[in-house]
Amino acid sequence: MENVPYKIYLTEEELPKSWYNVRAHMKNKPAPLLNPGTGKPMTFDELRPVFCDELIRQELDNDHAEIPIPKPVLDFYRMYRPSPLVRAYFLEKALGTPAHIYYKFEGNNTSGSHKLNSAIAQAYYAKQQGLKGVTTETGAGQWGTALSMACAFFGLECRVFMVKCSYEQKPFRREVMRTYGATVTPSPSDTTQAGRNILKEFPGTTGSLGCAISEAVEAAVTTPGFRYVLGSVLSQVLLHQSVIGLETHTALRKYGIKPDIIIGCAGGGSNLGGLISPFMGEKLRGEADYRIIAVEPASCPSFTRGRYAYDFCDTGRVCPLAKMYTLGCGFIPSANHAGGLRYHGMSSILSQLYADGLMEATSVEQTSVFAAAREFARTEGILPAPESSHAIRVAIDEALKCRESGEKKTIVFGLTGTGYFDMTAYQKFNDGEMSDYIPTDAELEKSLSKLPQIG
Ligand SMILES: *Cc1c(COP(=O)(O)O)cnc(C)c1O
Repeated sequence: MENVPYKIYLTEEELPKSWYNVRAHMKNKPAPLLNPGTGKPMTFDELRPVFCDELIRQELDNDHAEIPIPKPVLDFYRMYRPSPLVRAYFLEKALGTPAHIYYKFEGNNTSGSHKLNSAIAQAYYAKQQGLKGVTTETGAGQWGTALSMACAFFGLECRVFMVKCSYEQKPFRREVMRTYGATVTPSPSDTTQAGRNILKEFPGTTGSLGCAISEAVEAAVTTPGFRYVLGSVLSQVLLHQSVIGLETHTALRKYGIKPDIIIGCAGGGSNLGGLISPFMGEKLRGEADYRIIAVEPASCPSFTRGRYAYDFCDTGRVCPLAKMYTLGCGFIPSANHAGGLRYHGMSSILSQLYADGLMEATSVEQTSVFAAAREFARTEGILPAPESSHAIRVAIDEALKCRESGEKKTIVFGLTGTGYFDMTAYQKFNDGEMSDYIPTDAELEKSLSKLPQIG
């Protein structure tokens, strides 16, 4: 086992040729999206004005375990995949832990994150359908960047609504997107009815993913030849991200390694859902057991303090209802929160798995997240994204527990991306000006009390 290389790569032949749909093996399927008007499950036809046809089929598919990756998507994956699975020898040494730590690094492409895995698939299906372009929202900017790259590759127009505080804090992100041909609008904007409503209700708001989603959906349904695409939360996105977990699973198996703990950060749940999919599949089929931990920010704690209920996916309340752990669609994390993962809800697949006790969740405060990021940067060399650093925090904590107990556990975590565009947050941390903010129960109750009443 000690002759495991620093990076475990796969050959092209070993790359996954199909995505894995974990829903096929879930006894309790994730609850369906509901039409907020009728309270009934959204049908294919109801979703058609908003989403691409093939993506709707994937969204509604609870049955097929394997969904072939189209050849053009596979070819694109070959430009930057497989992503490396790295044994964190230097971090282990610095921590003095007997634990073995591995991370799956998804930051090895220009978008700087795992989001390209789904962006390229979604752009492909939009192109196949003969559409002109797509609209979307972006928070920190990784999804917008990934989608811009994917749209440039397939010759599609790309309109991005970017959460206003990120638009202002991250002008370089915006320029990357424009370089790939996207148009970028700060959200909330006065270009949509949803944006104008939000501006009226919350003047001076710095925006949220939820509002940007409302705007992007409205822009898609009012522009001929356009559809809306989303970079997380939806089951189709977790499906595409299963490529992360499948590669990890194959790479570990090559060396006979079985992880004890699998850790990932959770915003909308796509990277974590993708990373754990094949392992969760084994767990669901009774073939193996793993401890799986979702890590979320203490300032936006959907799993650990949210409610498992139907809620809108967006602040403007125009999207379908999803059953998920949610803080309420009106929840906007404190402006003090720098570390990404700002979404009020959570993937309905992960929500069901969590409700069924098949995975754990924990929340961490941002100063401790940045301390972990710094330690990781100094030992392993990679400057991690703040989002990814939530997983690093918990991986380090678990490795330190092994140091106390002497247990030689194998820990695998998802390193979702790089942090080059997050230097404002790093600067705050380096200057000792970063603080933690944990919402009070009363604050959470305020947005939770406005959950839609279903059933
Ligand atoms: C978007 C993003 C996340 C969180 O999104 P999930 O859908 O929860 O995976 C995590 N890390 C990075 C680098 C991201 O860009």
